[in-house]
Amino acid sequence: KLISFEGSEGSGKSTQMSMLAARLQKDGRDVVTTREPGGTEIGEQVRNIIVHNSRGDEMCAETELLLFAAARAQLVREVIAPAMQKGSIVLSDRYLDSSTVYQGIGRNLAADPVAQINRFAVGNVMPDLTIVIDVPAEVGLARIRQRASDLPDRMERENIDFYKKVRDGYLVLAKGMADRFVVIDGTQTQDVVSKKIFAAVKERLG
Ligand code: C5P
Repeated sequence: KLISFEGSEGSGKSTQMSMLAARLQKDGRDVVTTREPGGTEIGEQVRNIIVHNSRGDEMCAETELLLFAAARAQLVREVIAPAMQKGSIVLSDRYLDSSTVYQGIGRNLAADPVAQINRFAVGNVMPDLTIVIDVPAEVGLARIRQRASDLPDRMERENIDFYKKVRDGYLVLAKGMADRFVVIDGTQTQDVVSKKIFAAVKERLG
């Protein structure tokens, strides 16, 4: 099974993914966690291009889409698919929906090519469940500001309007694919969010 975690930065998705991993492991399940872009050596190199470039010249949205897709293609074939084949539960901090939302909706790339490139990158490896941790744009941004004193430029660029677009994008996606998505209110306490995620996983995946 593949479970992806989505949401804006400051939504708490990375923390929640670790908490779910621990819970599932306590249940005796074999869990593999990964993040994108990254998760493989090639993917980490691609991640560096994306992160470092954001400090210098503006990377065009098309390049960004293709780089995220490239990292994802590698991650699927090198890590995710083999782990799923072994029967592990794979948890991914972001997956293809991030591109739909950030590069597509956030950076205004047309939906069709984004969907096609996403499909090409993942092959047929789609998440069985996608957990969106939803927080208002102001909350996500405030949490990030508190956490990082030296904000990467890419986050400075991502102002409140960008965050709002990302948040709404996720909500629209989730509504359109309700059988794959579950939206959890990320403004609740960590424990409550974690319990709700665990309950959703049990309900949807058994
Ligand atoms: O996963 P994390 O929250 O660390 O992501 C950091 C940043 O990477 C996001 O705020 C977003 O700017 C960017 N990102 C992106 N497109 C993706 C995935 C992440 O722009 N497909």
